[in-house]
Amino acid sequence: MPRLRIDVLTIFPELIEQFAATSVIGRGQREGLLAVRAIDLREATTDRHRTVDDTPFGGGAGMVMKPEPIFDTVERRNVQRPVLYLSPAGRVLDQAYAGELAQLDGFTLLCGRYEGIDERVRQHLIDAELSIGDFVLAGGEAAALVVIEAVGRLVPGVLGNAESPVEESFADGLLEYPQYTRPAEYRGWAVPEVLTSGNHALVARWRRAQALAGTLERRPDLIRARGGLSAEDRSLLVEFGLGSISL
Ligand code: SAM
Repeated sequence: MPRLRIDVLTIFPELIEQFAATSVIGRGQREGLLAVRAIDLREATTDRHRTVDDTPFGGGAGMVMKPEPIFDTVERRNVQRPVLYLSPAGRVLDQAYAGELAQLDGFTLLCGRYEGIDERVRQHLIDAELSIGDFVLAGGEAAALVVIEAVGRLVPGVLGNAESPVEESFADGLLEYPQYTRPAEYRGWAVPEVLTSGNHALVARWRRAQALAGTLERRPDLIRARGGLSAEDRSLLVEFGLGSISL
């Protein structure tokens, strides 16, 4: 049985299916670790044109997604709970939120289109709203793909290297340290000597110092959120000549 089930309610199921069959999420699905199901909201329509939208009461531009197909789909297709409506008004996705969602047995993402959904869906059907940032997309599908990838890759076993989610950006409230691969020198730019030293303890300290310095420079808000620099952090920065960078 898959550890995590994600249902996606959308009028463009093929967008979700194609994405979820590819790369990390595709492999996770084939290995039975997670299951992504895209459900076409138009399947719940009864008219010849398979209508999912209508003009707004009170006038104004654009169309609004009708409540009936959404209520019918949620109630008849036994979708996962919680149902999360993708919306600019929702809680903004970050690594901590992705981690919380990855702990669930399943959840449903409702993709809006046009001007959004009828307010009665928001008030009486969904469990919460989720945003991927303070900007407006044309529809919830691109947001759903972001959520599926950010959450799906945290399900144990989905990533090839089990270490990856532990060491990467945000895992410890810091950005990740710089990574290098071959060649050791490219266009005169050499890889830091410490990485070819074979001294694993030194490499670990260097990486930690680089993560601290990089976060201080690019995202000082993350350092403030973890209560500033500890004495140990400061001495690590000094050890690698990075002591002049401060909050
Ligand atoms: N009229 C809405 C408003 O002003 O907030 C915007 C509707 S938007 C054009 C259409 C759909 O895109 C929304 O119903 C939502 O599902 C999705 N969407 C847009 N921006 C989003 C964001 N930042 N995060 C998640 N979903 C978003």
